[in-house]
Amino acid sequence: MPDRAPQPVERQLPTDEARDLISLVRDIAQHEIAPKAAEEEDTGRFPREVFRLLSESGLLGLPYDSEYGGGDQPYEVYLQVLEELAAARLTVGLGVSVHTLACHGLAHYGTKEQQAEHLPAMLGGGLLGAYCLSEASSGSDAASLRTKAVRDDGGSWVITGTKSWITHGGIADFYTVMARTGEEGPRGITAFLVPGDTEGLSAAAPEKKMGMKGSPTAQVHFDGVRVGDDRRLGEEGQGFTIALSALDSGRLGIAACAIGVAQAALDEAVAYAGGRRQFGRPISDFEGLRFLLADMATQIEAGRALYLAAARLRDAGLPFAKQAAMAKLHCTDAAMKVTTDAVQVFGGYGYTADFPVERYMREAKALQIVEGTNQIQRMVIARHLAGPESR
Ligand SMILES: Cc1cc2nc3c(=O)[nH]c(=O)nc-3n(C[C@H](O)[C@H](O)[C@H](O)COP(=O)(O)OP(=O)(O)OC[C@H]3O[C@@H](n4cnc5c(N)ncnc54)[C@H](O)[C@@H]3O)c2cc1C
Repeated sequence: MPDRAPQPVERQLPTDEARDLISLVRDIAQHEIAPKAAEEEDTGRFPREVFRLLSESGLLGLPYDSEYGGGDQPYEVYLQVLEELAAARLTVGLGVSVHTLACHGLAHYGTKEQQAEHLPAMLGGGLLGAYCLSEASSGSDAASLRTKAVRDDGGSWVITGTKSWITHGGIADFYTVMARTGEEGPRGITAFLVPGDTEGLSAAAPEKKMGMKGSPTAQVHFDGVRVGDDRRLGEEGQGFTIALSALDSGRLGIAACAIGVAQAALDEAVAYAGGRRQFGRPISDFEGLRFLLADMATQIEAGRALYLAAARLRDAGLPFAKQAAMAKLHCTDAAMKVTTDAVQVFGGYGYTADFPVERYMREAKALQIVEGTNQIQRMVIARHLAGPESR
């Protein structure tokens, strides 16, 4: 195998517009994101300016309606954009995916008036979103959440409680928040769109994470946060349905990000194996290593095909929740395996921060946990296999 720069991934794209979009994203990834990724992940700096640039370039609202400032792109294109961004830096790819998740409630369940008022700024006006479902005592069992929203005499809602693990917590301009307004369980939950500067909303210091240190993950406190009823998304009691609907699509975003990280690790491993010599030959001459690289590449291609197949079902208006869970499960497990094997290809050097593969390995781990752990994905898939009555 030659020691050369990796070739860009060959992508099957549906339109010339999509091809132009991928070129634009590659240009931004190469010049604005990748050069600072290692240093900023080391220091834990969030690249807010990159998100402004993505917004100005029309890349923060890709799968949404152009009537409200979105890009009108099918999911199969949006996800390939995410993959390219995540390959350059997961903090950016995952950040765009979480922002898209945070816009889902308003874009799919908001009234026309709410959409006209808020969506343009969210999709193309430079704002950044966060999605608040998890709490300290309710992660996988999200329907047991305790954050409360209570109506006051004037018809406004007062939100009280603490959300945990919130990506962009403390820096987001808006928060899509699931809070309890009624009975215990999933039917007592309502969704709200809360501006980041609302009185009573504050964030704790970011968690000290294993990877994605540039992406702030923090507890968000709602201390009597008051919002009007015009900030309620969907019907009272519909919040859990909205949250899960957002996650079906969001899981595809996580799958695409995972393949991006895995591809970046494979590219590094192939280049290194072509240059590193042992026993008088490049290590890429040894079958033991060539087969390892072949397996890594195969898992990546299989993952890409799986997330694209699910995306194409979604684009065709067909059910895709089972396939989205499968894509999330397979792609994030593949990313964990591929990044671990990439460290192996580098030998001792792979275990140091001098090369990016150890960072990719630490980052891949998060993707097996976020937006439903991979155990939860298996539960979702198994429920679909058992038929509609068990869902
Ligand atoms: C980096 C990062 C970013 C995140 N960003 C966000 C965000 O923006 N918004 C948000 O709302 N949340 C976010 N989360 C939270 C994430 O969604 C939760 O961590 C995840 O859902 C798991 O919940 P938990 O951590 O409470 O683990 P738990 O639910 O306590 O699970 C612990 C373990 O038990 C397993 N388990 C639980 N129930 C079952 C079961 N029934 N069967 C088999 N195994 C089971 C789990 O798979 C896991 O291995 C983020 C988390 C991380 C790490």
